[in-house]
Amino acid sequence: MNLIVLGPQGSGKGTQARLLVSKLGLVYLEMGEVLRELASKKTPLGEKIASFQSQGKLVTDEIITEVLKSFLTEENFKKGILFDGFPRTFPQAGLLEDELKNHQVKIDRVIFLNISFQESLRRLKARRICPTCGANYNLVTMPPKNGELCDQCGSQLIARSDETDEVIKERLAVYQKETLPLIEAYRQKGILLEVNGGQPVAAIHLEILKNLGS
Ligand code: AMP
Repeated sequence: MNLIVLGPQGSGKGTQARLLVSKLGLVYLEMGEVLRELASKKTPLGEKIASFQSQGKLVTDEIITEVLKSFLTEENFKKGILFDGFPRTFPQAGLLEDELKNHQVKIDRVIFLNISFQESLRRLKARRICPTCGANYNLVTMPPKNGELCDQCGSQLIARSDETDEVIKERLAVYQKETLPLIEAYRQKGILLEVNGGQPVAAIHLEILKNLGS
């Protein structure tokens, strides 16, 4: 089975994607994270990606195509792939469709975790990561036990560099302009599974599994 998980920033895509990947034995492509890893390297490509990410802008389709092609192997398709945060635009959806055709596979369902703009903003502002061990927290929905210190290693938590007010607004604007219309197109195609992302994590997971027939 091949799945796409889409939704505004802060809708819990990563959390639900990880649960599905482990439950269904899928291979996971978390586009934002793959790009962040590339951006952390001091190469010309890394610096280019970092500059898009720091402004909340989408990286170019050329870069996305590179990442995608290295990932779409026969071996990964045999297991099934979960695409998280990709495709986000019509051209990206076209790129994916062409590649899928080449491998004679298709996307089975597009899971849409829906939360309001206000909720997305509230959750993003509360997101923290540990600079030492990489653990993720949310001061509203998944707070650390002790102030803003990491439960696992005790380091002071920080906000991601693309989670300042200005960059958050830009990322949400890009989502509304580019990704929402694509989500509607998947709805028209009859493969969209829309879930209320305001529910508890476990309830969302169960609702998705029930609808996938798993
Ligand atoms: P995310 O953490 O998924 O919101 O992604 C963080 C940043 O990575 C975005 O603001 C973009 O700069 C970049 N990015 C992630 N996914 C994509 C994509 N499908 N297309 C272009 N840029 C992306």
